[in-house]
This record gives sequence, structure tokens and C-alpha cells, in this order.
Amino acid sequence: RAKSAGGNRYELADPEADARAITRHGLTTALPTALNRGEFFIEYQPLVHLGDGRVHGAEALVRWLHPQHGVLGPDRFIPLAERTGLIVPLGRWVLQEAVRQARAWQEKQDQPGPLRINVNLSPCQLTHPGLVSDTVEILERAGLEPDALCLEVTESALIGADDALLKPLRRLAEMGVDIALDDFGTGYSNLANLRRLPVRVLKLDRSFTQSMQQYPADPVDLKIVEGIVSLAHSLDLAVTVEGVETGAQAEQLRMMGCDTAQGWYYARPGPPERLHELALVDATG
Ligand code: C2E
Ligand code: MG
Ligand code: MG
Ligand code: MG
Repeated sequence: RAKSAGGNRYELADPEADARAITRHGLTTALPTALNRGEFFIEYQPLVHLGDGRVHGAEALVRWLHPQHGVLGPDRFIPLAERTGLIVPLGRWVLQEAVRQARAWQEKQDQPGPLRINVNLSPCQLTHPGLVSDTVEILERAGLEPDALCLEVTESALIGADDALLKPLRRLAEMGVDIALDDFGTGYSNLANLRRLPVRVLKLDRSFTQSMQQYPADPVDLKIVEGIVSLAHSLDLAVTVEGVETGAQAEQLRMMGCDTAQGWYYARPGPPERLHELALVDATG
């Protein structure tokens, strides 16, 4: 599928044959030991201000360096980790590692305006009772301010969310952690519902950016994006766009009032050193 191929530069030439060869069962049984063996690693993709093009943060994207099959993208193993419950310790590891990395960038940067870090949360982590205390502990141990962290939750995870589910997110938001609604626009959620959610950022799904690639862009899609942006801004939410692959898209989205962007046009996900270099180039002009 385009999604996994897109995010993963290591994808083999024939991902379908590869997928057939790697049984789900095999991956599922290998998951727990993979965490203990340190086979997971994180790539970082910059988030850029559309106004001035500066890097203001990064999203942490987990990968699995499988001893036989090479690098696997999250679409290959996150669903399995969710089904087996391993997502809770794996997600905690990602959070810890990403927060530590964000603090390390901040310490290296001789320029004010610290880099922020975005981390994806799976629905299982939302219902896990340790979410708030783990997050507090991880931030404190790394010495990172809560407002440098943004947790991304998909729109579909929050559809019909009751107060019990929203409570930990509200607590985190009160501490200063930003919550972003990921893949926004794909989940058919009730827009009026947004007011109930402790969300600061909408991440507009890549499908909107993609439809902008066609020329002329679908005027209805453009109107939808404009509508979402103005609704978001009227609710004091920032808008991030995913999947920006061309300068023309970036310009179009900037003119439509989107705040930040992420995509191959700026950089593919990569090792932490690269992100630091990108951010430093920006800081020094
Ligand atoms: P997402 O959070 O929506 O992340 C964005 C995905 O779009 C990433 O795919 C990224 O590599 C890809 N992408 C970024 N820019 C472009 C672009 O310009 N064009 C195209 N075609 N693709 C682009 P990736 O890394 O394969 O991640 C897929 C999904 O896996 C993520 O979607 C996220 O939902 C999930 N994920 C990744 N890391 C974690 C994690 O630590 N925990 C959990 N629970 N989920 C994760
Ligand atoms: Mg995300
Ligand atoms: Mg996303
Ligand atoms: Mg997405």
C-alpha cells in the first residue's frame, strides 16, 4: 500500500511477496523479544512552519530492524502489537526515547526556540491506566518541559470517546502537553465534537494534500480544506498538513492558512543527527 511504501525507504522491491513470506504469526511471536533485544529504532521527520519554512519540531516514527527481514515500517507491526498488548511497553519505549532525544537536541541548540517532539499514541495506550504517570515520569527524568511534547491521537480513536477516555488526555493537556488529532478528515467525526476534545492541533490527512497535486485541484477539496482551516482557527486549533511532496502544494496550503507542514518536500523521516542538522541550518539562517 502507498502508505507503508511512502514512509519506508527500505521497502523491498516486491513488498507483497515479502508480506506473504513473513507470516503474521512469525512477526507476532518475535515482537516481545524484539523490544528486549533493542531491534526497534526511531526515525524523525521535521515539522516545518509554512510561514517562514523553519523547522520547529519533529515527529517520532518507529521502525523495526528485523534480523531476517530488514527494516519494517510501523504499518507492518503496530496492528500486531496492538492486538497482543505489546503496544503499551513499545509505546512507552518510543515516548521515552523520543523525549530523551528532544531534550538532547535542545541542549545542543545554541538558539532559543526549542525543538518540539511529536509522538503517536495508539488507542490501547489511551485506556492504559499508567499513561499520565508514565508520561510525567518520562518528561521529568529527561528534563523536558511538557509543552515541548505533542501526543498524536488519531481521529478515529476519539470518535465517540467518553469522559473516561478523555480524562487522561485532559490531565496531560492541563500539564501543558499538546494533543493533536492525527489523520484528521478520514474518520467522519462530528466537527462540533471538536469542542469537547482537549485538542490543540489538527493534522490534516495526507489524502487532502494528495488531491491538491492534481491540476487543476478539485475545487470541492480546496473548499473543504479552507473550511477545516477556518473552523480550526476559530476554535483556536493549529493546522498541520501531512504528506507535502511538492513546493506547489506547500504554497497552496500556506495560502489557505495552514500553520505547519510535514512531508518529503522538506525531508523524509531520518536519523536524529539529520534532524538536528536541518534545525541548525534554519537557526543560523
Ligand atoms: P502518521 O502518524 O500519520 O505518520 C505519517 C506517515 O506518513 C509516516 O509513515 C510518514 O513516513 C509518512 N509520510 C510523511 N511524509 C510523507 C510524504 O510526503 N509522502 C508520503 N507518501 N508519506 C509521507 P510511517 O512512518 O510508515 O508511519 C505510519 C503510521 O504508523 C503513522 O502514521 C502512525 O500512525 C503509525 N506510527 C508510527 N510510529 C508509531 C508509534 O511509535 N506508535 C504508534 N502507536 N503508531 C506509530
Ligand atoms: Mg502521526
Ligand atoms: Mg498523521
Ligand atoms: Mg497519516
